Amino acid sequence: MNSQNPNATGRRQIHEQSQHRPDLSSPHVREDVAITGLCGNVHLPTGRTCDLPERHEGSCHFVGPEDAENLAAQ
Ligand SMILES: [Zn+2]
Repeated sequence: MNSQNPNATGRRQIHEQSQHRPDLSSPHVREDVAITGLCGNVHLPTGRTCDLPERHEGSCHFVGPEDAENLAAQ
């Protein structure tokens, strides 16, 4: 008898979300800032967050943690 459940060991895809904003799945983006329509990119060495609109041109403009808190969704 070899009737084990064929789905038991199946690996599930993790990409069930973030289809429209794939960058949200990045650990380099603050989601609570990004969902407000801002870039939200995090400069990891400093922990600062970009406060420019999403998909802005040019390089990011990073602000400190206190300013980032004000940008984040309440
Ligand atoms: Zn940016």
